[in-house]
Amino acid sequence: MKLHTIALGCQMSAADADEMAMPLARRGFTPTSTPDDADAILISTCTVRQHAEDRALSLIGSLRPWKEERPERVLIVAGCAAERLGPWIQQRFPFVDLIVGAKSIDSFPQLVEDALGARFDFLAETAETFDTHGAAESFSPVSSYLTIMRGCNYSCSYCIVPAVRGRELYRPVSDILNEARRKIESGARELTLLGQTVNSYESINNGQTVDFADLLRLIDPLPGLKRLRFMSPHPYYVDQNMIAAMAQCPTVCPQLHLPVQSGCDRLLKLMRRNYTRAQFMNKVRLLRQAIPDIVLSTDIIVGFPTETEDDFEETLSLVAELEPASAYCFKYSPRQSTESSLRADDVPQIVKEERLGRLNALVDRLTERALDAHVGQTVEALDEQGGFGRTRGGFKMKWTGPAQPGQLVRVTVAGATRRTLLGDKL
Ligand code: SAH
Ligand code: SF4
Repeated sequence: MKLHTIALGCQMSAADADEMAMPLARRGFTPTSTPDDADAILISTCTVRQHAEDRALSLIGSLRPWKEERPERVLIVAGCAAERLGPWIQQRFPFVDLIVGAKSIDSFPQLVEDALGARFDFLAETAETFDTHGAAESFSPVSSYLTIMRGCNYSCSYCIVPAVRGRELYRPVSDILNEARRKIESGARELTLLGQTVNSYESINNGQTVDFADLLRLIDPLPGLKRLRFMSPHPYYVDQNMIAAMAQCPTVCPQLHLPVQSGCDRLLKLMRRNYTRAQFMNKVRLLRQAIPDIVLSTDIIVGFPTETEDDFEETLSLVAELEPASAYCFKYSPRQSTESSLRADDVPQIVKEERLGRLNALVDRLTERALDAHVGQTVEALDEQGGFGRTRGGFKMKWTGPAQPGQLVRVTVAGATRRTLLGDKL
């Protein structure tokens, strides 16, 4: 029996897909990279922007012939769009077998059992034949995600995440450390800790409070771990404590994706981001002081309601000042029951597109500059796929010469494409 997983949207959605694939693997499914030979498809959906949700719905629609060809096939739709639109999806696409909202990912094994138990019992019997029992645990990619918290307690005015993922829930330290050890034992060399505001992490362990900086210090010394990253931190929780832990833990990479959203204080306030431009830039200054080679990236929304040309130029000037190595830039789209959806979506599409184009052009120049600065240097890459991997700063890199996944290699950078460094292994 074969399972094809499709994760749309953010890293959290990819991590959810991995987590849900696990109980299916225990029931005898092996992964396949194409829908054609799959007996089951699991889609982890995203709803953060209208565009992401539209993609999810058109993907589900396009799978109708796949399901009709062999009606015993199983189609599971999970994640954020499933949380928001579950009953509607079931009505619109009656061929979907199971819908699991983002708030229910933890109970996925039980939901599968309840909804599809009879069919899956049959599959479980065949598990031995396929000899795949525990397949998902026996192999981890070199670079693996580890969810440390779910949900979000913020209420950024544009954002649907708190509605579809709920309030923050932190995993206990012992669970996190156990999963980290398991992943390392099964081949992971780099872990990326995940959470919507990952650095607000807090829990009690053996009577002691463990915050995010403490958690970094607990994971850092695990034997076999070579690199530690995390995303997405919220600027509000970036403090000296966290910066010191980043600077002092040898596995923590000099890289940070720190979403700013806008360079204009008036809009930051309307977005309810809980920082000003000056406060954000001050944290960036502290980060660069402590970790001089840190590579920064960010998220930006253009065309938020009431955004004027002057406001947008403040965002451009912030990006020029921040000099991120890359940025994900999005056109604002109103999301149901968010605070900002009550305001008129008053920046015309054409203006949003024009602003996005100017912003992306600036970001592309900064990316090119960051890549070019590597040429001639020798850098450390972690081999993820035999000749492809990432630098400590998070740049993608391809090289020629002997390669072995899981190995740290020294590579001299000979040049770069638009997004990837090219090099020769020493
Ligand atoms: N938790 C993360 C972001 C999660 S959503 C954080 O706070 O940084 C990922 C990104 O999608 C956001 O950073 C934002 O840039 C974008 N986004 C969220 N809602 C949006 C909306 N309604 N329209 C456009 N972009 C949006
Ligand atoms: Fe959304 Fe803000 Fe929470 Fe990020 S911090 S998930 S943008 S509400």
